[in-house]
Amino acid sequence: MENDQFILVKRPRGRPAEDDFELRRAPLPALRDGQFLVRNHYASLDPAMRGWLDDAPSYMPPVPLGAPVRASTVGVVADSRNPAFPVGQWVMGLNAIEAYSLVEAGGFTQPIDPAMVPSVTNYLSLFGAVGLTAYFGFLEVCEPCAGDTVLVSGAAGAVGSLVGQIARIKGCRPIGIAGGPAKCERLTARYGFDAAIDYRGKSMAGLADAIRAAAPDGVDIIFENVGGDVLDAGLMNLRHGARIGLCGLISEYNAPAPVGARNLWQLIVHSASIRGLLVRDFLPRFAEGAAEMAGWLQAGRLVFDEHVDAGIENAYPAFMRLFDGSNDGKMILKLA
Ligand code: NAP
Repeated sequence: MENDQFILVKRPRGRPAEDDFELRRAPLPALRDGQFLVRNHYASLDPAMRGWLDDAPSYMPPVPLGAPVRASTVGVVADSRNPAFPVGQWVMGLNAIEAYSLVEAGGFTQPIDPAMVPSVTNYLSLFGAVGLTAYFGFLEVCEPCAGDTVLVSGAAGAVGSLVGQIARIKGCRPIGIAGGPAKCERLTARYGFDAAIDYRGKSMAGLADAIRAAAPDGVDIIFENVGGDVLDAGLMNLRHGARIGLCGLISEYNAPAPVGARNLWQLIVHSASIRGLLVRDFLPRFAEGAAEMAGWLQAGRLVFDEHVDAGIENAYPAFMRLFDGSNDGKMILKLA
């Protein structure tokens, strides 16, 4: 049997280029005891994958050159020498953008039940790392109180759109920042943000003014997905004791040199705090978060969107949507 794989062949410098990757067909090795083979149906495309392409210290080792690009996938066990993962079992796990993944016993892979969700892709969106990042990142890292004004950047994206809705459920006032009028319209009309700010075409000072117009008394919480000028503009609008949950810095992931926040002095002025969040710290509590979000979904209090592109040959353009903003919801690649 053969395997189609999306291989990293060069380390990107700045924005990934198409020729940093190659599609390759390789024979599948025979299974050893304890191993099983997963036919990947869908791969999650996440901004964090950009960091895994660099040869730099992080919470995950870099993707080796010549290896398939690491990604979370959902799929079906196609062959098995592990009784805990019989043929036909649906699973999710940290695998790669490839038709088949050979999985070792004791890895990240878990059984899933497609009958429990409207679509099996939901295990990569609402009930995957993205949904749980929004849930635990907002509730545990940002420590919201009813009545708080909450500024969310990257607000129309997979994580941001959920943060805004959870903020609303918790009695907060969410204000979202996103790129372009269509996304801003979606923030208020679909995700229930109180106000939406289009960052495109605005200087840092212009964006800071727009935030001030939407939140004249300042913001109690920033849920930061973007960094750069967007974070700097948010920092100019803090209330006393504000909390900043640092979830992502997507505007800086392709920057040739480190960018860094320039307005950190505002933390001192407002006795504010900033805390990084890493969703996998909450791994032991994932079931708890998923159960509460399932309840909100059933009660019609939460909506979420998925953007599914098809075909491993489209892995590169689909991944790059995350950086040009042309994804409308959680970015997913259909592989089977
Ligand atoms: P997403 O928001 O669905 O997609 C990425 C979005 O980022 C794009 O649609 C685009 O929206 C925006 N963007 C891209 N480049 C930008 C730039 N230069 N300036 C401003 N906005 C830009 O992706 P996601 O999966 O939900 O991830 C959102 C953030 O959460 C990322 O920073 C990611 O790294 C982070 N994250 C962190 C964790 C964790 O454990 N800490 C876990 C998951 C995700 P616009 O059209 O609005 O520009």
